[in-house]
Amino acid sequence: MRAHLEALPKYRPGRAPADGGQTDFVQLASNESPFGPLDSVRAAMAAQLDEVNRYPDFAGTQLVTALAGLLNVPQDAVAVGTGSSALIRDLIWAFAGRGDEVVFADPSFPLYRNVTIATGAVPVTVPLSEHRHDLAAMAARVTDRTRVVLVCTPNNPTGTVAGAEELRSFVNALPDHVLVVVDEAYREYVDDPTAADGVALAAQHPNVVALRTFSKAYGLAGLRVGYLVGAPQIVDLVRRLGIPFGVSALAQAAALASLTSTAREELHERVTAVVRERERVHAFLEATGFSLPRSHANFLYLPVGSLSARFAAACQERGVLVRPCPEGALRVTIGTAAENDQFLKAAVDVSPSVGAR
Ligand SMILES: *Cc1c(COP(=O)(O)O)cnc(C)c1O
Repeated sequence: MRAHLEALPKYRPGRAPADGGQTDFVQLASNESPFGPLDSVRAAMAAQLDEVNRYPDFAGTQLVTALAGLLNVPQDAVAVGTGSSALIRDLIWAFAGRGDEVVFADPSFPLYRNVTIATGAVPVTVPLSEHRHDLAAMAARVTDRTRVVLVCTPNNPTGTVAGAEELRSFVNALPDHVLVVVDEAYREYVDDPTAADGVALAAQHPNVVALRTFSKAYGLAGLRVGYLVGAPQIVDLVRRLGIPFGVSALAQAAALASLTSTAREELHERVTAVVRERERVHAFLEATGFSLPRSHANFLYLPVGSLSARFAAACQERGVLVRPCPEGALRVTIGTAAENDQFLKAAVDVSPSVGAR
């Protein structure tokens, strides 16, 4: 094994082990959609079942065409991948080698660090400021060695967004040799009109790519399909780099079926319901005495300090799985109203016993 791989962090699954104990937990630890597939999406997958002896379409042509049409970008500006996780990995791997630097915020999506270390590059992390990306501080950390800067908006785990103007000036101020990856896994939940739009930025800057996914708002996390929007050279590179046939025919069919106008309307209703619940849970927690940043994603971030692990364990004892964050916070996914109520009940119950608020 290459020695630098010793430093690779382990993935911490949000799901409790199913062996032995309780298995019917309320799953609020992995930012999944609480809703199962739409009937039309289920039917599109079923229609593919008899064909699984065949390899899928290599480039996901129909899906790429549909996405390009909806996003109003050329077809050669879109690549699909095995979840946006795979695209993050391929991009960092392609642009950063041994000793190069990759800049991202802390806390942000843990995969950035993991992949950076795996490639032998050096993670350069910049603390959030009031739970938001500190773009000025990030720009200040860019050097001749910087190859990639990742901006996660809405940020996982804090839910905060970068502003459109702010991100535009940031990109304009960076040297052209730096690739800016705007990770928009939760973009569909954003209801702030001043928020940055990575796809619009990628259309104007050849060194910017936007990443989106079918895993979160589209409710297809288990199928593994995400996409990249960026310059044709980068799209081509990612197509050549990715695991061949990584996006299965089932995943392609489900994603494509999710993009019909009827499906998008149904999905939009689900997103609206989650956003409404997010605001309800936020207001309740605030009224209970917690202070928390305004989230634009399908989760909330509770900075409870050193109590986070005990808090999460106590929620788990009450049947609710939430994610403790190592910096001293809880990340709680927004589920159905009933699931959120179960979390709120646990939170109210737990907070005095762990001394929270
Ligand atoms: C969930 C998530 C992803 C990746 O999801 P995939 O399932 O691999 O598409 C990417 N970035 C962030 C910030 C996420 O939270």
